[in-house]
Amino acid sequence: MEYASDLKLVSRHAKAEDTVVRVGDIAVGGPDPVVMAGPCSVESHQQTLETAERVQRAGAVMLRGGAYKPRTSPYSFQGLGAEGLRILESVRDSTGLPVISEVLDVITFDDVGAAVDVIQIGARSMQNVSLLRRAGASTKPVLLKRWMSATLEEFLFAAEYILAEGNPNVILCERGIRTFNDYTRFTLDLAIVPELKRLSHLPVVVDPSHAAGRRELVLPLARAAIAAGADGILVEVHPEPDEALSDGRQALTFDMFDELMATITHFVPVDRTGSTISA
Ligand code: PEP
Ligand code: MN
Repeated sequence: MEYASDLKLVSRHAKAEDTVVRVGDIAVGGPDPVVMAGPCSVESHQQTLETAERVQRAGAVMLRGGAYKPRTSPYSFQGLGAEGLRILESVRDSTGLPVISEVLDVITFDDVGAAVDVIQIGARSMQNVSLLRRAGASTKPVLLKRWMSATLEEFLFAAEYILAEGNPNVILCERGIRTFNDYTRFTLDLAIVPELKRLSHLPVVVDPSHAAGRRELVLPLARAAIAAGADGILVEVHPEPDEALSDGRQALTFDMFDELMATITHFVPVDRTGSTISA
């Protein structure tokens, strides 16, 4: 399949070599897949710190937690907002883990951008062009999630907005698309991983948690993502998933996360281990 020719900056034609997004001493898009983990929502200092310490011990290199939450219902927990950002900063100070958190709008952009190491633009905001442009003017790396109905080309154009404003540090994230399938929350589109990597130099990570919507499916999907060549995974973990204020059904327990980390390295594809696979 051929794609639009005016993907001027994100395409492999513009830049042949892989982009490596550096977050402190962590390289996203480098030789080793990275694991980013944490609760869907920052609920308290204790819950965030406990989760951060446990996922770090298991091998996660970044903490992900939402302070501003894009919930389907206005009556659901909307996140702790600025207080959540302060908790993330404090937990970063205690653990040394860089933090990722979602920005919902241009109004709160400066506050979120100042607090986090990586700015997440969520699936629902993927075509918010004001937000994309604002993220493009930032010096912080951006994790851009694919909207649940975005084609590959629409996804890459969203990234193009960010690069066009001068920010080259974009990580693409597949998080499941909407299909007729009704046994998972979304359908994980794993074919997009090698296809994005063929067409673009940007790193690609996979969020199996939102795709599955059920914790028992997260581990096999995480393994499959790594086997498909993803540069990392983003996984939701909670000390007590059934008590979580958002997305508890898909949150791994600490024991499940340990199991995921113990098995994931067996699924690193051969092109990351020295020998090469040609396209
Ligand atoms: C999230 O990461 O918690 C989230 C809301 O994800 P998405 O934007 O992919 O739905
Ligand atoms: Mn979530």
